[in-house]
Amino acid sequence: MNTTCKRCGSEIVKLSFSEEQKLEIWGLIVQDFKLFAVRKIKDEYRLSLRDAKATVAHINKDFGKCHRCNFDELIEENMDCPKCKAFNYNLKMELSFNQEFCTHLEYRLNFGELEDERVQGFWCDGIDYLPIEMRSLAKSVLRVNQEIKTKAWIGKSGQEIYEMTIRFGKESVENYLQNQSLIDCISKNSCKEWLKIEPEKKKVEIKLI
Ligand SMILES: [Zn+2]
Ligand SMILES: [Zn+2]
Repeated sequence: MNTTCKRCGSEIVKLSFSEEQKLEIWGLIVQDFKLFAVRKIKDEYRLSLRDAKATVAHINKDFGKCHRCNFDELIEENMDCPKCKAFNYNLKMELSFNQEFCTHLEYRLNFGELEDERVQGFWCDGIDYLPIEMRSLAKSVLRVNQEIKTKAWIGKSGQEIYEMTIRFGKESVENYLQNQSLIDCISKNSCKEWLKIEPEKKKVEIKLI
């Protein structure tokens, strides 16, 4: 069933996204790769270029925030903005692997605790909350793989790019599937027990509880 945007008059195709498609499209929009999002929607839903462009133009980046005006209390998916009348897909993501978790994890990394000369003076200056593969955030995928790979900025300058593998344990898998925070699944023990780094390969591994 289609609808019309009451703001710009574009016809809006109501798409039913699978969990993985929703993640991949949202990931492209968040990173401002709108052209890739248009291509993906055009190919996967067999839409015309025009319809695909209209679709992407109405996907708002952040849940709740209108893509057109400054209204930021959109509460449901697929709704018209009460202020400017623009249609917003307003995709609800509900991801426990998010910026807040990544910031907490970043602060917990203490390479000094590893007592490893190779990583003396190392620190972490950021962990990307958008993983290398967006689909790895899908609950159906995480349940099986029990890991997420992302990028982290590490080193003496905190600026070298590492591939970070975050392995989930029993508790973190459960929390993830129920949209519960992962912050308490970061071990409070010495990093020796749950952080592994291979500076030569630029790889780092985290084990959550
Ligand atoms: Zn519109
Ligand atoms: Zn609006």
